[in-house]
Amino acid sequence: LIQLSMPLNFMGMIYREIKQALIDIDDMFRILHRNPEIADRPGAPALRVAEAAVRFEDVRFAYNPDRPILRGVTFSVAPGRTVAIVGPSGAGKSTLSRLLFRFYETQGGRITIDGQDIAQVRQDSLRAAIGMVPQDTVLFNDTIGYNIRYGRWDASLEEVREAARLAQIDRFISGLPEGYDTPVGERGLKLSGGEKQRVAIARTILKGPPILVLDEATSALDSFTEREIQDALERVSRGRTTLVIAHRLSTVVNADEIIVLDRGLVVERGDHPSLLARGGVYAALWSRQREADEAREALKRAEDED
Ligand code: ATP
Repeated sequence: LIQLSMPLNFMGMIYREIKQALIDIDDMFRILHRNPEIADRPGAPALRVAEAAVRFEDVRFAYNPDRPILRGVTFSVAPGRTVAIVGPSGAGKSTLSRLLFRFYETQGGRITIDGQDIAQVRQDSLRAAIGMVPQDTVLFNDTIGYNIRYGRWDASLEEVREAARLAQIDRFISGLPEGYDTPVGERGLKLSGGEKQRVAIARTILKGPPILVLDEATSALDSFTEREIQDALERVSRGRTTLVIAHRLSTVVNADEIIVLDRGLVVERGDHPSLLARGGVYAALWSRQREADEAREALKRAEDED
């Protein structure tokens, strides 16, 4: 019996270790907003992108069954156009971008690209077609050049430079003692939020995807940096089908269409002037942000005078 219980104990220990490792992996997937349960259908074809028209059709979704986040959302982004999603914090804006990237599956309705249901195509082909500029860019512990080249490994140094120039980060990099070879990340030079976002923009320019998702930074950047980033974003989105997830309202003014999301439903849609004139949810969000921005500027002026 002793001879038998030893290996059983040992197996129990291994079982517990494996289980813990699986829990850790599960946590990792959650952190990355990746859902390990999403698998390609057997024999799923690759997405074929022609015009890059994106459509959300009556999309429904909940992270937990008892709390619906999206309750039937419909809108289209025409080829090469820009649609901005705005709405109060927690309205479900970033959730839309996670569904488009298929980090989660829709639970009702569907999302199509050029008429193909994204749930029916290979995930690698879907993700190759979409460039994502996230809120918080994670930098690798490597050089800043490596971090940009991550967008396309076979890019030449010239192409990396050109992407950095378009993303308005080239001058900053050239001013560093080691230029493109400067180590960044945890163990290297720490970049500011705005600099990291511009590295992400440069990466995306190198990738050159037909569809773009810009998840605007939640935190307020100073107005000069914000202007620079907006210019860079405008350049990268030109001619590409673009979905802007706007946590602040600074990038939406020039969008072809603004979709106002509130508690999982589209409550208003239109361009900036028409939504302001309407005096509804969007107009209220806009004036609240204007007030907050003005208060911040006043505070900064007072600090500068001290
Ligand atoms: P904000 O502008 O504040 O970033 P948002 O409109 O982008 O907000 P989402 O990130 O889409 O909001 O989140 C919508 C709701 O879903 C929130 O109430 C949030 O708490 C919840 N949520 C987001 N991610 C998860 C998750 N992984 N598990 C459970 N609930 C989640």
